[in-house]
Amino acid sequence: MSAAPLAAERAIAQQAVLAASRVCQEVQQRLVAGSTLQKGDKSPVTVADFAAQAIVSHMLAGEFPDLPMVGEEDAAALREPANADLAAQVVSSVQAVLPDLAADEVFAAIDRGTWAGGPTGRHWTLDPIDGTKGFLRLDQYAVALALIEDGEVVLGVLGCPNLPVDAADPDGARGCIFTAVRGQGATSRSLDDATETPVTVSTLSDVTRARFCESVEKAHSNQSHSARVAELLGITAPPFRIDSQCKYAAVARGDAEVYLRLPTRPGYVEKIWDHAAGVAVVTEAGGTVTDVRGEPLDFSLGRTLEANKGVIVTNGRFHDEVVSAVRTVLGV
Ligand code: AMP
Ligand code: MG
Repeated sequence: MSAAPLAAERAIAQQAVLAASRVCQEVQQRLVAGSTLQKGDKSPVTVADFAAQAIVSHMLAGEFPDLPMVGEEDAAALREPANADLAAQVVSSVQAVLPDLAADEVFAAIDRGTWAGGPTGRHWTLDPIDGTKGFLRLDQYAVALALIEDGEVVLGVLGCPNLPVDAADPDGARGCIFTAVRGQGATSRSLDDATETPVTVSTLSDVTRARFCESVEKAHSNQSHSARVAELLGITAPPFRIDSQCKYAAVARGDAEVYLRLPTRPGYVEKIWDHAAGVAVVTEAGGTVTDVRGEPLDFSLGRTLEANKGVIVTNGRFHDEVVSAVRTVLGV
């Protein structure tokens, strides 16, 4: 019997996201414990960001040395003498997981993320900590890794280290990993237990009863436009605000039916690492993803989604209705 397509890629991607998620969780727990974070001090998240990218990149390169990666971070700043302290903290965080890695290998692993992406061949894309604002608020964030083949997302792993395993029990166990391969469905597991269970979107078909999620940060999604869209659709439940690609996971597992990401300013271009893993997971769970005009997201154009504006995710039961309401409100 032959293995399922992308089985090896799926396995290492999941292991890498798990290892990075644990490092992020450990750094965030130190913040909870009240370490010396000053207001506006981003250094803990910066350390965790670089360390997570190094760990994921190194683990992927071990199995697939020729597969390039589009990552959010690069190591240029870490090589500057003025940042020697920060660099040392990054190296020691990485060495807690990969003890044999020397500093120059840590930097080289991070710099594997500088690939330009594009329409042909295969490449990974990684956001080592998506939702850094949520991370610093001790709230939600995600480690987001995807594989893109000829411009299409074929595999996604979304580590959500702080997400309640059961949305109905917010005080219960936390830490989920969502995994999806094109044509193979989506699954969820906890950080601590490798047992995977299938996830599917909600079957709700009455849009007026839909729950919609959006960014916590007003700068990332236009919340007054989303309120008007909700009103137009007859949605009465208040928005569920949650940072990072956890929004894709929320729709994928049926905590919400709609995720709206409505442009806040004309010049902003979405990055592929902010969406690829989430798109894989929610699509394989039965959901639908387009931009605000109803166009599919185009991952073939390099590091950004330059052909698209905003994002609309639904459980697939009333997608056209939501797109049409968004177009009315935005005038697009
Ligand atoms: P979220 O946690 O969903 O609010 O999104 C976090 C992501 O928003 C970050 O990874 C940033 O790349 C991205 N971001 C930054 N500025 C903007 C903007 N003006 N519009 C949309 N997304 C943005
Ligand atoms: Mg991000």
